Amino acid sequence: MKVGVVKETFPGERRVALVPDIVGPLAKRGFEVLLEAGAGVLSGYADAAYEAKGAKVLGSRKEVFDGADIIAQVRLCGANPDCCGWDLDLLHEGQILVGAADPLSRPDLVADLAKKDVSAFGLELIPRTTRAQSMDILSSMALVAGYRAVLWAAERLPKFFPMFMTAAGTVAPAKVFIIGAGVAGLQAIATAKRLGAIVSAYDIRTAVKEEVESLGGKFVEMELESGDGEGGYARAMDEEFYRRQRELMTKVIAASDVVITTAAVPGKKAPILVTEEMVKGMAPGSVIVDLAAERGGNCELTKPDEEVVAHGVTILGPTNVPATLPFHASQMYSKNMFNFLVNMLSKDRERKDEFDLEQEDDIIAGTWMTKGGHVVHADIKNALGTAEGAQG
Ligand code: NAD
Repeated sequence: MKVGVVKETFPGERRVALVPDIVGPLAKRGFEVLLEAGAGVLSGYADAAYEAKGAKVLGSRKEVFDGADIIAQVRLCGANPDCCGWDLDLLHEGQILVGAADPLSRPDLVADLAKKDVSAFGLELIPRTTRAQSMDILSSMALVAGYRAVLWAAERLPKFFPMFMTAAGTVAPAKVFIIGAGVAGLQAIATAKRLGAIVSAYDIRTAVKEEVESLGGKFVEMELESGDGEGGYARAMDEEFYRRQRELMTKVIAASDVVITTAAVPGKKAPILVTEEMVKGMAPGSVIVDLAAERGGNCELTKPDEEVVAHGVTILGPTNVPATLPFHASQMYSKNMFNFLVNMLSKDRERKDEFDLEQEDDIIAGTWMTKGGHVVHADIKNALGTAEGAQG
């Protein structure tokens, strides 16, 4: 099987779907890598590094699409809505596409892709099971985001993070509050702790308290019902819940130098957890990094991809954080992609080198978006129905 890697076209995207170090392991499993020249440059991977590992570098995007059985991308379809159309004419029947596709936000684009009679797989749809963990791009990219958010906050805060006891007096450590302690939040806690801050966190899922404490963070207890949903995710709560949560968090937020928000509910707009009033209550110079900006933001004043100063508080709303650490984000993404592709090989020992999409496998079935000219994923079909219903 030939796996094609092309340049990412989403504005500001600097990651690449496969890095040179994964070319060898792929070759061992029977995959040859075709690379569009320059595809890895923005992540720090030169063409020569790919060639040294056995990849074939081709001069144009078209050559890669023509020659590849599988196209591995960071962003396709809804994850690259304005540009994905460019590639539609390059696809050939039966081709396999794998990448982040944001299919539930833009099911219409999945329907467009289906018309090309390709098998497209959306990596955000990977089930949250132990077996799938090594393929879970959401987790690996969330880790990058949690780390980066803390560094941004530390850069902007006019204070130190750690405590210092010096001849010039004692400096108190910064207080960092993390809202939502999933993968990004936990990494934010770990990073802020490493920098010496006093860290506290809150999450609506019950299992999180122990995880926060194991990283040295303080879990802020609130008298609220738990928000445990299906598959390890939080469930959407009603507006009265969020009102009460905001009320309970107001004091903690006012006492924090840095607030990092990561609270997301899959497929839903992010809940507003920090209102303008709460921002007003923070000391001037404080910083909020809103990692939920892509889903509308957890802070009322967040502007996606902008840095605003309101009531003396700096508010960042970055939407593609992994692209700001492209070297390692790509390395992790590649490993997820490798594991995903290898999982598509037959589990039958006799046929272990054959690609077998039709085998019984919850990860293949759970991520498969289009097949034989149709959209095949139930959630995307539902989303399409809703979108059509809304238009009608
Ligand atoms: P996420 O990005 O969906 O959401 C971030 C966090 O925000 C979650 O912890 C969620 O509970 C929290 N949240 C939602 N609403 C909130 C609110 N109103 N107030 C405070 N917090 C709120 O989460 P995630 O990083 O994807 O992780 C969710 C869970 O799934 C974690 O326990 C993680 O370890 C688990 N997980 C499992 C697998 C796997 O088994 N393969 C893979 C990834 C994540």
